[in-house]
Amino acid sequence: MARPAKRLDGIPTTIFTEMSALAVATGAINLGQGFPDVDGPASVVERAVTALRAGENQYAPGSGILPLREAIAAHQARHYGLELDPGHDVVVTTGATEGIAAALLAFVDPGDEVVVLEPYYDSYLAMIAFAGGVRRPVTLRAPDFRLDVDALRAAVTDRTKLLLVNTPHNPTGTVLNRDELQAIADVAVEHDLLVVTDEVYEHLVFDDHEHIPLATLTGMFERTVTLSSAGKMFSFTGWKIGWATGPRDLVQAVLGAKQWLSFSSGTPLQPAVAHALDHESDFYVGLTRSLQDRRDQLCAGLDKLDVDVRVPEGTYFVTTDVRRLGWADGDAFCRALPERAGVVAIPGQAFYDDLEEGRHLIRWAFCKEPDVIAEGIDRLSAADLRA
Ligand code: PMP
Ligand code: GLN
Repeated sequence: MARPAKRLDGIPTTIFTEMSALAVATGAINLGQGFPDVDGPASVVERAVTALRAGENQYAPGSGILPLREAIAAHQARHYGLELDPGHDVVVTTGATEGIAAALLAFVDPGDEVVVLEPYYDSYLAMIAFAGGVRRPVTLRAPDFRLDVDALRAAVTDRTKLLLVNTPHNPTGTVLNRDELQAIADVAVEHDLLVVTDEVYEHLVFDDHEHIPLATLTGMFERTVTLSSAGKMFSFTGWKIGWATGPRDLVQAVLGAKQWLSFSSGTPLQPAVAHALDHESDFYVGLTRSLQDRRDQLCAGLDKLDVDVRVPEGTYFVTTDVRRLGWADGDAFCRALPERAGVVAIPGQAFYDDLEEGRHLIRWAFCKEPDVIAEGIDRLSAADLRA
């Protein structure tokens, strides 16, 4: 009687739930799930408190309150020169997670193929499946995790409907460069494909790397839905306020699906995020600077452990290969880690179809305070990590 629907067959519990529960149960330091341990700007919290007290507590419009849509449009114009009509080209979502769900439900029919970068963020797998789509992964291969343009071209068939892109890329930390983005654009235009691009880490880019929104390339705006989120930009991952932007017809289709998922997103948080976008851009500049230091701190610590470390160009994750420690299976490594070292990390294989590529990869988060990272490194250094 209680048998779940077939669409849940093969859809696991998300690895983030599993690993954060393991961290709580064992008291381990959580270098797994990507959430900062310090909140975003106080002024933004104050704006939310004001909204709560001022009676901004009933349903917002499905597309989001106008001041937030205006602030999102202004952000896209200011940073990227993208001109959006806040009336029709912007929809507020319940985190980028709902943006992903709504976009895939809006555009993917059963049997449609979705070309997706692998490793892929785990909700892509679930939502492509819920939509009845067929995923066609294009692997970013270690050690550099760059786009293989031939593999991208080979993945496209006459059943391909949509390219699902993520840059800066979780979990590899790759920031797609202009040549890679141009290759994606060429394929999309040549085959007349839709593109959904998840750019939630758009500001978290290090050294001299640059985030280039796919929608800014010639011929791309009209076929691209861009997703982002205040969770990553302002360190409010628990607020679940994200957005989808793009041309009116595509964004209105996303809204057409979103209205049946949540109808609308948390009202009092919306003026607060509008305030953040309009007045707190210094926050993500400072966050990126400090994340770069913490990236270097974690990478230096991991380097000493006899694992291969790939220094990320963006996001707040670093990937290592643990085979030199004698582990062929990163999942087994991560399940042993709390007991061995009092640390939790994420097995990269949760993000792969091609297990030969991902089985031995581990993702570590550095969006934690420096003393937490230092303690994590101390624990890892003191532990016996060999298989
Ligand atoms: N996309 C990527 C690549 C992510 O890493 C995350 C994780 N936060 C999300 C989407 C989901 O974002 P949100 O928390 O805003 O739903
Ligand atoms: N995006 C975060 C990560 O990759 C967590 C998101 C989630 O827990 N669903 O760790």
